[in-house]
Amino acid sequence: MKQDVIYLDNNATTAVDPRVRDVMLPFLTELYGNPSSIHTFGGQVKKYIDRARGQVAHLIGADPSEIIFTSCGTESDNTAILSALESKPRRRKVVTTRVEHPAVLGMAKTLQQRGYHVEYCPVNKHGQLCMDALVKMVTDDTAVVSVMWANNEIGNIYPVFEVAEIARQNGALFHTDAVQAVGKIPINLAKANVDFLSLSGHKLHGPKGVGALYVRKDVPFHPFMIGGHQEFGKRAGTENVASIVAFGRAAELAAETMAEERTRVARLRDRMEQGILKRLPQQAVVNGNPQNRLPNTSNISFKYVEGESILLHLNRFGIAASSGSACTSGSLEPSHVLRALGIPEITLHGSIRFSLSRYNTEEDIDFLLDKLPDIIHELRAISPYGRGEIAAS
Ligand SMILES: *Cc1c(COP(=O)(O)O)cnc(C)c1O
Repeated sequence: MKQDVIYLDNNATTAVDPRVRDVMLPFLTELYGNPSSIHTFGGQVKKYIDRARGQVAHLIGADPSEIIFTSCGTESDNTAILSALESKPRRRKVVTTRVEHPAVLGMAKTLQQRGYHVEYCPVNKHGQLCMDALVKMVTDDTAVVSVMWANNEIGNIYPVFEVAEIARQNGALFHTDAVQAVGKIPINLAKANVDFLSLSGHKLHGPKGVGALYVRKDVPFHPFMIGGHQEFGKRAGTENVASIVAFGRAAELAAETMAEERTRVARLRDRMEQGILKRLPQQAVVNGNPQNRLPNTSNISFKYVEGESILLHLNRFGIAASSGSACTSGSLEPSHVLRALGIPEITLHGSIRFSLSRYNTEEDIDFLLDKLPDIIHELRAISPYGRGEIAAS
């Protein structure tokens, strides 16, 4: 699939795989029946939803009965946390981290306003969770612990099984936002104490506007969307059939290609990163934990320059990247994730997230490596801080 744009912003969203698009089309044309209908015309659609449920379940080592389809990753995150709080009405504490996606942090803030006590686990300068702090935060007053599987900005992978165990020991429920992890790294929930896990279609080459929530068997559940009996009575609303079927196919393709793609994409990412560090040895610093992160993600700070300026220059060459989460870009406020890492002011503002996918090629990386150094030199030359640092170094 040749694109005009060199797309290195796959943690914001991904291209729909043509094989995924193809399975959607019948549901946007002749197969428009309502899966809840008694007549065959509608009812026949239901088996496609069931197949998609199986495909998504298979990707994360779950049982199909543990998967409910939602409208997005955000809905899944919100649903899991609210359900947990309803299940544990006497417990008033929520424990999460400083590096979660706004879908969790926004909910946490709202809960604080509603009188819940929320504690945010800090991270160290590599973005790793301070487990000692977390252990102290989870108490017999904690209703739910929510820790993401992998971070969307720096790619760090978190020890979710370990955290799930801590939650369990304290009688709290455990939720993980695995939107960035699913399809990129192996996930097997069969032997884990994970109670809720959020997924989203558009981060793994499915369409936007469809997500899923894993709810472990035997975990009490309280719906967020209330109405009809769809999704085992756990999520009302007529199913987004085309997108659900597409999500299923995207999950199937991810399962098939993961082993190979993981290695190929990581190699490409590493070549990009090393190429940048080699060309800009005094300026570029990698953020996060290079030893334990997603294969496709690299977050790099360029000292003394503004991330937004870099993005605009890259954009002129048709290169799409990001200066943080898509939800915070557009403002010049540095991302809450990089803030949580406590990285110095001189590198904080010049951070770029490069996130790759199955569609990136060696040529993409060569083109970036060809253009980026001049952009940085140019910006640095006009930076009010630039000259001082050159004189100093
Ligand atoms: C994209 C993303 C979400 C939100 O998913 P949507 O389907 O866009 O609502 C949640 N968490 C993480 C980590 C994400 O990257």
